[in-house]
Amino acid sequence: MSQSIGLYPGTFDPITRGHLDIIARAAQLMDKLIIGVATNGHKIPLFDLETRVAMVQEDITTLKEKLSLSADIVIVPFDMLLIKFAAQNNVRAIIRGLRAVSDFEYEFQMAAMNLRLNSQIETIFLMATDKYQFISSSMVKEIGRLGGDISQFVSPHVVRKIQEIYNITP
Ligand code: ADP
Repeated sequence: MSQSIGLYPGTFDPITRGHLDIIARAAQLMDKLIIGVATNGHKIPLFDLETRVAMVQEDITTLKEKLSLSADIVIVPFDMLLIKFAAQNNVRAIIRGLRAVSDFEYEFQMAAMNLRLNSQIETIFLMATDKYQFISSSMVKEIGRLGGDISQFVSPHVVRKIQEIYNITP
């Protein structure tokens, strides 16, 4: 029997508790979940690729221990058209998270375009959990830059990375 492989792509600049919630839920739907870390998507990232991948890696290790997830979760950086990357990796479905209405227009368009480009690959949307609904990487960076408490939005090691990059003394 073939494995169902899911791809959760994003910039993860940085990874938040909202992303982690989607990853934990997606991992229960698929045999294997690829977390695709985009070199740079439609925005210029604050953290370089290596740092973003390392932050995702650390969070996934903790998540796997905490939830004893059976799915195989791998982190793969990519720098090409998403749908091509998905096809190359035998992906059955692209997973995206949806927060309120703000994500809808962009996500709807992207899913429709991707389906046109490859009708074999579906996009599955998981609704953000109410608790994490309002978390975005950009807001976290903005609050962190101004010295606000971001510990409820990201893991402690990510808090430290944000403080480092903005020269904030804890
Ligand atoms: P991208 O640049 O592709 O939008 P992001 O890292 O910002 O990359 O987001 C990756 C995916 O995670 C997107 O589908 C986004 O809607 C989703 N996402 C981001 N934050 C949350 C959250 N708090 N809850 C659920 N999904 C989220």
